[in-house]
Order: sequence, then C-alpha cells, then structure tokens
Amino acid sequence: MLIWLPVVCGAFMGQRGSLDASISHISKRYRPRFLLLICLVCCACATSAQAITINSSFDSANSEPGPATWAGGGSLLGIFNTAASYWQNAVTQDRDINIVYRWADSSQIGGGVLGLAGFCNPPGACTALIRFNRDFNWFIDGTPTFQEEYNNFTESTADFGGGEMNTGRVFTGATGDAAGRFDLLSVALHEIGHVVGINGGAPNNGTEYTISSPRPLDGSLIPKTGGHINLSGANMNPGIGSSTRRLLTEADILVAAEHMSAAANEINLNPSALPEPSTLVLQIFVILGYASSRRRIRRA
Ligand SMILES: [Zn+2]
Repeated sequence: MLIWLPVVCGAFMGQRGSLDASISHISKRYRPRFLLLICLVCCACATSAQAITINSSFDSANSEPGPATWAGGGSLLGIFNTAASYWQNAVTQDRDINIVYRWADSSQIGGGVLGLAGFCNPPGACTALIRFNRDFNWFIDGTPTFQEEYNNFTESTADFGGGEMNTGRVFTGATGDAAGRFDLLSVALHEIGHVVGINGGAPNNGTEYTISSPRPLDGSLIPKTGGHINLSGANMNPGIGSSTRRLLTEADILVAAEHMSAAANEINLNPSALPEPSTLVLQIFVILGYASSRRRIRRA
C-alpha cells in the first residue's frame, strides 16, 4: 500500500538572541584558565558553525495525543532530533531552519496521509509546521541511528547526466517492532526535507530538478513529481509502505542544496545522524584539554 504525503505552505516569524560577556570582574588568578576555556569553546564552535541549524520544538499546546498503536520504545522527540541531525550533516551551508511539530489526526491532515509539512521560500524565511498522523500504527525506533530491525539493505545508483549518484538507501525485511508498522524516522526525514528545500521550488524544468555548479554532480537532471522526487528509492519519493526505512540519498541532498542557495557547496552526500568525525574528535580534545589544564593548575 502506498501512502501519499502532500505538502502545504505555512508562515510564521522566528526570533534570534545575542550573548555578551565580560571578564573584567574575574580575578587575575583565574583569568588564564577562563581565557583558555573560551578559546577552546570557540575552536569547537567554529568547526560546527558552517551548517544548517534546525531549531525545532514540540507544539504540546496544539498537539493531539500520541498514536494509540505503536511500538519500538522511542519517542517523537528522539526521532525528530535524529532526523534533523541527518539533514544538518547533509547540507552544511550556514542557515537557520525553524520548525514546530506535533501529532495530528486524519480529520486534520487527511486519511492516508502520514505526515504534512509547511515550508518557507526561501528555506529558513519563516517557522514551518510539521504534523504527523496519529492514526497510523507507527514504528517509533528507540535506537534510530541503528537499523538492526531490518534484514535487507539495498543501495541504488543512476546517472542523470552529471555522473553516477546514489538514488536509494532502503532498508526492508523488517522484523520485531518494525514489522508491519510505518517508520516514523523515514517520515520525519521526509517532512523535514520539504522544509529544508524539496518542495517544488528548487530550480527545475517542470519534470526534472536541475543540479548546477558549485554543487557536485552538476548537470544532473533528477526526475521530479510535484514537490517530490520521482525515484522509488529516494526518501523524498511521495509515498512509502510499511516495514520500510528510507534514509537520505544523494539525490535528496543535492535537490535540497540546490534550493538552499545558489552558492551552496558545503554538502555531505553520505551523512550520519552523528557529528562528523573531525568535529567529534576536536570536541573530545577540547574537553580533555580543559580537564588537563584544570589538573595542571590544581597541582601547581
Ligand atoms: Zn512529501
């Protein structure tokens, strides 16, 4: 059974804040340690600043109750944050994306609709609303960065004129709690994908999205259907069956990046939901470095 995921528009305003600090009141004894900490934190921040930042919040005031039938031991919060992390590591162009999300029911977003996303043009220009349909039997994975519930993994590739690209990262053969249920992670990735930039607005010729420089694989013409990607393995295909997980493909990421900015060239075509290894390693060094400096100061 194929379930369709249509798209609507929404528009709300976001807010930003600022931080100011002074060290003039800190005694001379502690000033070197304080400056070292600030320096190390700035180094850690600098490595992760160049990325889209998805600011999201659960709209508890307007949410319907969670689904009556589900399994997997996870939560909507955990799934949403994991899906957001995949996108943040995929399109690393600097941009704030603001999203509120909640449960809805079939009377609100339509029977047969798993999820529904509003979006902003350009991406990030407003706060978008994403709703998930509580009337489905969901697999809400308690360990969404692992795919151990699925026995089969199928990758696919195709050349659309700009070189061979990945067009499918699909998990099937669902077991246990994933069997017979709809994968909330796949649907959260999909709905966030609409907000990030796959909504029909990316440059296209009517039937294909056009990938251009400085994106990799420029010259590719990726099949389009409405505000979706017309590839069976793409996460941004308009439908998904039960017992199936579809992660982001290179096709999904390139179309989103194409819409994000004409200059978007900071792209990771095979993202994980975890921080990039280089960022992670530096953050560990920062923590160890600060702990070590504290020890040295204490012993002095
Ligand atoms: Zn969709």
